[in-house]
Amino acid sequence: MFINGEWQTDAPTFPVFNPATGEEIGQVADASAEDARRAIDAAHVALPAWMSETAYSRSGLLYRAHQLMLEQQRELAELMTQEQGKPLKASMNEVKYAADFLLWFAEEAKRIYGETIPSSRSDQRFLVHKQAVGVVAAVTPWNYPISMLTRKLGPALAAGCTVVLKPAESTPLCAVAVFKILEQAGLPAGVANLVTASDPKPIGDVFCTHPAVRKLTFTGSTAVGKHLAQACAPQLKRVSMELGGHAPFIVYDDADPIHAAKGVSLVKFLNTGQACISPNRIFVQRRILDPFLETLQARVSGMQAGDGMNPANSIGPLINEAAIDKVDRQVQDAVSRGATLLSGGTRLTENGLDRGCFFGATLLSNVTPEMLIYREETFGPVAAVVPFDDEDDVIAMANDTDYGLAAYIYTQNLARALRTFEQLQFGIIGINDINPTSAAAPFGGMKESGLGREGAREGIEEYLETKLGGISI
Ligand code: ADP
Repeated sequence: MFINGEWQTDAPTFPVFNPATGEEIGQVADASAEDARRAIDAAHVALPAWMSETAYSRSGLLYRAHQLMLEQQRELAELMTQEQGKPLKASMNEVKYAADFLLWFAEEAKRIYGETIPSSRSDQRFLVHKQAVGVVAAVTPWNYPISMLTRKLGPALAAGCTVVLKPAESTPLCAVAVFKILEQAGLPAGVANLVTASDPKPIGDVFCTHPAVRKLTFTGSTAVGKHLAQACAPQLKRVSMELGGHAPFIVYDDADPIHAAKGVSLVKFLNTGQACISPNRIFVQRRILDPFLETLQARVSGMQAGDGMNPANSIGPLINEAAIDKVDRQVQDAVSRGATLLSGGTRLTENGLDRGCFFGATLLSNVTPEMLIYREETFGPVAAVVPFDDEDDVIAMANDTDYGLAAYIYTQNLARALRTFEQLQFGIIGINDINPTSAAAPFGGMKESGLGREGAREGIEEYLETKLGGISI
């Protein structure tokens, strides 16, 4: 726990476990509601000075943090693999992605432009000024335990906000490592504060009700996001929400089925399916279904699960037992309702995997709308294939969800690609592309997948208020 520039060493602690081995890998402070209040008070006191620093000075802090993060890429990645489970190569990529946000917002800090607006009165001038929203409370998830922090800290600090952040209870060590970097980079006391806690609820309650907090930014499940947004409503705190997804992946029959299947195998199993932009329904036009499934089945059955520190393993553990139960329930339900199981389908317990939460890479075909997996976010290593015949039908099916985060389209027909792009109700769409994310590109969802955008030019706007000056001359 890091409050007002000091690591708190006298608090009670809770253990952190490696999801691949079940071993305890560390202890962190277990913050109380009172600690959260102290952290917010520190951020409140630090706000005026931080807001009035020059943009160049705030930018300098983020540049230094970016540099330090890259210098420590390997150590951070190893910590992430041990704490969260993803293969080391994926952790290395995530640390780079996390550092990209620090760099991007170090640059954006200097481009917080205002405006002057012509008035209809000759003796009047309008001046539009952008200023920091104020104290920001941030709640982050475990699946991307470093980049989801920098995606919030970067723009908040660049804008001149001060921050209190609560990371997920399963990955607090990565959060501690990020705050050590900020400290090394010269973070002034109170400007960013960290509260780690085993029970998120009391901290969340303080974040949503403390009058000094002017904005809550959250990444996590839709259920918790809705709860927090409701709790913020009485004080009309601003909220940004990055919530769940249920991405459709549409493969039209003019696409190369082999290439598309390879794309699915890469993006679906990234982070063992524990990503909000993970494809949850893979729609394949019937004419190319067989070659598509053949390639995907060969890929999926060749995926090896195990500890992410071993480079031979591409499937890491799920985060906990509840995640295993959810995946298992969805697979059993699909099979009992007539889906075809082409690979995997069970928990893995051989060769020491019983110590962790491993589920075999799974391929289901003939998935239909009655099945749980067609509606519920899976967050696990299950590729669910839904055959289709017609373009209009597949767009309707793809949009038939309360979620609206990511979608993917594979086709060689430009008109079809654009028609589908325009009709899909999703915030992020990959067209023949499985990685439509970058610090430079706006990330966020429509419908119940969220509010606001992170990264890109839009990312900093979320932390800025617009202030109008009307001036008589
Ligand atoms: P998941 O189901 O993927 O773990 P959650 O939405 O539960 O997603 O978790 C995302 C983040 O939200 C974590 O930091 C978690 O601690 C936090 N969280 C969960 N419940 C609450 C709550 N009631 N108040 C505040 N934060 C919460």
